[in-house]
Amino acid sequence: MSLNEGDAQTRLPCRRAADGTARAGLRPLVFRVDDSTPQVVQSVLLERGWDKFDHREQDVEGWNLYWRTSSFRMAEHINVKPWQQLNHHPGTTRLTRKDRLARQLKHMGRMYGSLLYEFIPPTFVMPGDYCQFVAEYFKEKQALGTKPGYWICKPAELSRGRGITVFSDIKDLIFDDTYVVQKYICNPLLVGRYKCDLRIYVCITGFKPLTIYMYQEGLVRFATEKFDLRHLQNSYAHLTNSSINKSGASYEKVKEVVGRGCKWTLSRLFSYLRGWGADDQLLRQKIRHLVTLTVLAIAPSVPIAANCFELLGFDILIDDNLKPWLLEVNYSPALSLDCSADVSVKRKLIHDTIELIYLHGLRNDRNEHGDAADGRPGDPPADAAPGGLGDAPDLLSREPLLHLTGHALNKDKPDVKKAVGTSPESKCPSQRRDTVTRKDTLPATAEPPSKRQLKDRPAPRRASTPRLPRLPSPVGRSGGAPRGPWGPAAGSEAPDPHAGGFVLIFPFNEATFGASRNGLNVKRIIQELQKLMNKQCSQVAEKKTKIR
Ligand code: ADP
Repeated sequence: MSLNEGDAQTRLPCRRAADGTARAGLRPLVFRVDDSTPQVVQSVLLERGWDKFDHREQDVEGWNLYWRTSSFRMAEHINVKPWQQLNHHPGTTRLTRKDRLARQLKHMGRMYGSLLYEFIPPTFVMPGDYCQFVAEYFKEKQALGTKPGYWICKPAELSRGRGITVFSDIKDLIFDDTYVVQKYICNPLLVGRYKCDLRIYVCITGFKPLTIYMYQEGLVRFATEKFDLRHLQNSYAHLTNSSINKSGASYEKVKEVVGRGCKWTLSRLFSYLRGWGADDQLLRQKIRHLVTLTVLAIAPSVPIAANCFELLGFDILIDDNLKPWLLEVNYSPALSLDCSADVSVKRKLIHDTIELIYLHGLRNDRNEHGDAADGRPGDPPADAAPGGLGDAPDLLSREPLLHLTGHALNKDKPDVKKAVGTSPESKCPSQRRDTVTRKDTLPATAEPPSKRQLKDRPAPRRASTPRLPRLPSPVGRSGGAPRGPWGPAAGSEAPDPHAGGFVLIFPFNEATFGASRNGLNVKRIIQELQKLMNKQCSQVAEKKTKIR
């Protein structure tokens, strides 16, 4: 059985006490999976008190979150209901295929300055750029004289290090499909004598307005054999993919500094670097800029879509000057739990992603009737539309979700306390994860209903335009006193600077906040980024002079 749009109104949790039953009890939220959904996502959601969607028991639309590895069809985005969320945004694969990423960033470099986009190694997409590559190869060869130059060749569409070769001599370049040939970073940061790269998690909660969060914790992936440019064929020394290194003979060995296995947490690497006197904060800032500049490459052109988010994995190599290089952006980053670093990072990551997307709303101020505390009524504008693609999707379609997650409920009510008693603000993330079983719930009368409930209920009241509340952005909306990260001037719509372990990296000041509303003013944003980067550079120079 499927519901029409008029039914949407009957599915929304009641905002007002008028029905008298809305707060009588709490029902769990429902997640939907397919065969590709990572196990850790399912177990975290179950732990938080969610129910798994069962199509035999529940209405076909009776779920709140659909999390899967592959992208959704456009029709699925268009038909998303106000109470539903999808874990992918349309258009983001423009970043996650190696050839497309290279093209997008090259274009941005041409538009806004190649120096700014110098964080991607020079890249050629084969076969189209073959002649350009050959010219560059021989130019470099001439410049280097007898010294060798190094390149890496990667299939555009494969992952996990499959089909990759590192070469120095052009006669070793072989490709039979779309490949990227990239300058090989031959001076990587070595720990012990092992190469590593970083997996940085980024959650884009919306493109219109653009809102990017970066996860503070992450993973460091090590090669398991010592870095040695004389043996370019040794994948265990040159590739840091854990899928490759797991099967290496040295994986279980205790390796110099690195220890056993092939992964550290990001915080462990940063504290190691601090121990060597490195400025890990500056490195973090550089990574933030890299991420923002990368996402800006596609932000103006992704289709408008509501009720969806994107969790991306950025692979970043740090060289021995502590310069971060973007290697690739992963769609559906691996969430398998292969070692203790995976367990400690990925479980919290999923908890915090759920909080970022849903429970964040619990912190916001709304009165007991669910009205915005600034006196705006909870009732929607007459032209409100339900979810799906549209002109102002974020404005309209996320709100019901916040209701479903208890957002509109008064935390002081006893029945609501049950739902929000473990609200994130009261505990630090680690405590929360380790000691509390979360319950993400919605009022008992809130939809989605079971099939039986649907059958037994009175005929739905038809509304030509479903009435949805009026609220701004998905996260960080607030009533009452403005609490944007840049003070009152930013207004009440500014996204919150933190959510669990996520830190807001865009917008990063009032000017970029303004430049991301009513269309995305990329030029203005880039000017602000440059100002910030220059400021940070001069601070670093000042610091160095003081030390001397
Ligand atoms: P995949 O999608 O197959 O994992 P990546 O682009 O992430 O492809 O490359 C796999 C690994 O190869 C990286 O984790 C890194 O260790 C190494 N690598 C990739 N590109 C470069 C590069 N330009 N310079 C140095 N090492 C690289």
